[in-house]
Amino acid sequence: MKEKPPTFEKFRDVQAELERSGAAIFRDKDGVESLVIRYPYSIQYIHSYAEDSPFFLGLAEGKLKGSKCTARRCGTTYATPRSHCMACGAPTAWIDLPLRGRLHSWTTCHFGSEAFLKETPYNLALVEFDGVDSLLLVRLKDAQESDLYVGMPVEARFDPNPRYSITDVWFVPAAGA
Ligand SMILES: [Zn+2]
Repeated sequence: MKEKPPTFEKFRDVQAELERSGAAIFRDKDGVESLVIRYPYSIQYIHSYAEDSPFFLGLAEGKLKGSKCTARRCGTTYATPRSHCMACGAPTAWIDLPLRGRLHSWTTCHFGSEAFLKETPYNLALVEFDGVDSLLLVRLKDAQESDLYVGMPVEARFDPNPRYSITDVWFVPAAGA
C-alpha cells in the first residue's frame, strides 16, 4: 500500500512537496483536504506581438523602447509600448529610453508566473527615467531587498541570448550606487 501524501496548509509547502514526490494534500482554511498532483503539461503557443514588436526586437539589440505622444501640445512620454496617448488619444512614436534610471518603488515576489518561478523570491521594480512621464515595471536583480531604496540608480541588462520575451531585460543597481 502506498503511504498517504503529507498534508500542508500553505500552498508553497505543497509545491515543495510536489517537487519532491509529485503528490501532496492541501488543507484549506475550511479544513477541506485536496489531493494535489503534478504532471507535465506542455503547449506551443503562437503569439503575435503586433504593434508591440519593435519593443521586443529592441530588447534583442540592447535597446529599451518607449513611446511619445505625437501631438505637439501634449508630447507625453511613456516608458512602455503604447500605440496611443493616454492623455490625449493621439498616436505615439517610438523613442529610445535611457538605459539608466532610478528606483521608484519595488515589491518582493514570493510567487510568480511560470517564467519567473525559479527566480522566486525576486524583486519587481518600478523604474523612473529622466524625461519620461511613466514608469517601467521590470525585474531588479543582483540586489538584496534590504539594500534597496527609493531613488537608487539602476541600469538595464539584456540577455545575450534573447528570446524576444520580457525576460530579455532586467535591471541591476548601477555601478557606484
Ligand atoms: Zn498626448
